[in-house]
Amino acid sequence: MTENLQGLIRDVPDFPRAGIVFKDITPLLLDASAFARAVSKMAGAWTGVGISKVVAIESRGFLFGGPIAVRLGAGLVPVRKPGKLPSATGRVEYALEYGTDALEMHSDALGTDDQVLIVDDVLATGGTAQAAGDLVKQHGAKVAGFSFLVELAFLDGRRRLGERVEALLRYA
Ligand code: AMP
Repeated sequence: MTENLQGLIRDVPDFPRAGIVFKDITPLLLDASAFARAVSKMAGAWTGVGISKVVAIESRGFLFGGPIAVRLGAGLVPVRKPGKLPSATGRVEYALEYGTDALEMHSDALGTDDQVLIVDDVLATGGTAQAAGDLVKQHGAKVAGFSFLVELAFLDGRRRLGERVEALLRYA
């Protein structure tokens, strides 16, 4: 079944810049049954572990985080690029290949009782997911783990993430 899903991820060479093979998830999103199956499997790995909030990373993480949160009976927390969230935010900066970037989350979104699942579409180097994890911990909540549709395993991003990591489709 995951072979069918893998066939719906389109490789786009040299996007957004030369040398990157971009994993385009939009063909999978277009296929109602494949999208439903992907969400169901991603959420299914985390049932019964008491996830109270799903933290979804801008922007493609929102596409999976929303339906996964509904399936798990959890609330949804968007983590966004700076300046997008309207209320008071907490912030974390993280290193990119060149320079730094930052992520923000509403300060009142999580509490010390929360068990959080962090969701994104693709795990590459793990820097973004690690930063989202740091943001969650800054707010006193517990990171239960990370869920991705696609893992670029050759980049070994999961090594940077201390907690449980699940990915539906893996590229060696
Ligand atoms: P990283 O911080 O290196 O793990 O990069 C993760 C973020 O960049 C995720 O939000 C992904 O959506 C995006 N990303 C990185 N590499 C790719 C890729 N090859 N194809 C699609 N998205 C990617």
